[in-house]
Amino acid sequence: MAGVLRMSSLFVRTLREDPADAEVASHKLLVRGGYVRRVAPGIYTWLPLGLRVLRKVERVVREEMDASGAQEVLFPALLPREPYEATNRWSEYGPTLFKLADRKGNDMLLAPTHEEMFTLLVKDLYSSYKDLPLTLYQIQTKYRDEARPRAGVIRGREFVMKDAYSFDMDEAGLDASYNTMRAAYQRIFERLGLPYAIVSAMSGAMGGSRSEEFLFPTAIGEDTFVRSVGGYAANTEAVTTPLLPEQDFSDVPAPELVDTPGAKTIADLVEMANQVHPRSDRPWNAADTLKSVIVTLTHPDGEKEVVVIALPGDREVDMKRVEASLAPAEVELAAPEDMEKYPGIVPGYTGPGAVGPQARGGAVADNSGDGADGAGDGATVPVARLLLDPHVARGSRWIAGGNAVDKHIFNLVYGRDFEADGTIEAAEVRAGDEAPDGSGPLDIARGIEIGHIFQLGRKYAEALGLTVLDENGKTRVVTMGSYGVGVSRVLAAIAEQYHDEKGLVWPVGVAPAQVHILATGKDDAVFSAAEDLATQLTAAGIEVLFDDRRKVSAGVKFADYELLGMPYAVVVGRGLANGTVEVRTRGTGESEDVAVADAASRVQEILAAAQAGE
Ligand code: ATP
Ligand code: MG
Repeated sequence: MAGVLRMSSLFVRTLREDPADAEVASHKLLVRGGYVRRVAPGIYTWLPLGLRVLRKVERVVREEMDASGAQEVLFPALLPREPYEATNRWSEYGPTLFKLADRKGNDMLLAPTHEEMFTLLVKDLYSSYKDLPLTLYQIQTKYRDEARPRAGVIRGREFVMKDAYSFDMDEAGLDASYNTMRAAYQRIFERLGLPYAIVSAMSGAMGGSRSEEFLFPTAIGEDTFVRSVGGYAANTEAVTTPLLPEQDFSDVPAPELVDTPGAKTIADLVEMANQVHPRSDRPWNAADTLKSVIVTLTHPDGEKEVVVIALPGDREVDMKRVEASLAPAEVELAAPEDMEKYPGIVPGYTGPGAVGPQARGGAVADNSGDGADGAGDGATVPVARLLLDPHVARGSRWIAGGNAVDKHIFNLVYGRDFEADGTIEAAEVRAGDEAPDGSGPLDIARGIEIGHIFQLGRKYAEALGLTVLDENGKTRVVTMGSYGVGVSRVLAAIAEQYHDEKGLVWPVGVAPAQVHILATGKDDAVFSAAEDLATQLTAAGIEVLFDDRRKVSAGVKFADYELLGMPYAVVVGRGLANGTVEVRTRGTGESEDVAVADAASRVQEILAAAQAGE
């Protein structure tokens, strides 16, 4: 990376205004600093400064991968359909998969991740236990047609990922490979200066067993995670609710349909319940109401299905948890036209009687219009599935929707009066909830997923026939792990972590250049002294961004220095008359005057100290 970067010729235009579409600091600053330019939603061009940072992040990732024994390969992004068909991901990946056809009409895709290809490559070349273990990786561009591209390169539709895959004979081997990767990830994020939390994650559609995410804690993160003092840490998507003990319902009266006119909110309902139908032991409260949330699933084959999720009325539904539980189906709140196809659903008043197993058994509440659908063999009225959040204990007593406008059923007991088609982790996790492993109350924070490691197990190897012969000549299916780092997202996370109100403040290890030299004023002597300094620093192996622009004011140069965020600066200007230059530290704002003859060695000293401290 030798050669001075000169502001007079560098391909960069800094902007004083934030881009209109930017909400988070890293996005604003990377665009304003001329690091990236937007092409289309979630699609960005890397400009010279941005590309330098990206390459440095890649270098750290590559060095740690190599040090861990992984070997680098590079796959194409453009791939044929067949391998993804074999694992079902051609359809299961859903609308996020970029699909296209070649001129002969063959289906192709732009890879969102490469499990299939790595599996097939190893199958192609290896056949014996002697060849394993093996870990391969690549640093490559991925494509995902994200529903909500966001925050610049944090959630792109084209982005750079490091993906690695391990191949082992057995579980012990997989554990070892996994732990090696985990340790490499810790070193990567430590070197990059990124704080992280390691949390348990959902294994996802093609799931395996162990799965952990590396989250960069930040208020702007899309992921929510929990931690307990006792060491439990998980993405909220992966938090499981402990099974509640069955409740004694022997004293609960029989269910009763009650008029509740105008009770539209849960608060209204609770108030009315205590007036018109009080319970004898204590007042009703929101936690006694069974709230129904009606969602439409779009299955990978495009088929739509309406599902009713029921949870205690004092808890909000967490759609991210619902989505994670129902993947690969896509989930949205049901639109009126989706619900109309299910006569049992009365929006606002839907309860167990008209959906779920009871309704399917024929006991549909008498509110479903007529039987115009005809009663030919098997041609029944569609009945939505009922899924219960685990906060609903067996034997618990509820006020639920009465399946008719302005009516609710009181004293409905789960297990006595209704059953469900299954359970679903749907309710929000709250600060103070008990950790599932009993290790104390949970704390909640937000973060950005910067890495993900997981044990795939044998699913891909089985689907694609990756087997090797073991010591006894027996055919064995290989077990795999998959490990991703969002390289371009990590760059943005670093910008998010290291900036102030004036601009970026890059850590030394990834800065486009370590030192920014500003020549200010009009004096030729200033420019030639600055030029000399740039030459000396470059000769010492230090990367220099030199603001050598004539006719640009000192104010503009300082503003650019602060925006662009090189960690150190040397200002050559007025002080030169007295033989001094000013050495500045961007992060702390500290500055010191140094004799011009000592400037290069002083900068080297500061850099050495900074690198030793990192
Ligand atoms: P997310 O939940 O954020 O959508 P993911 O779980 O789908 O991510 P993985 O398949 O685990 O992502 O991919 C590995 C890594 O790639 C992630 O940990 C993340 O750092 C990065 N990554 C995933 N999607 C994107 C994206 N759209 N833009 C930038 N980086 C991404
Ligand atoms: Mg992930």
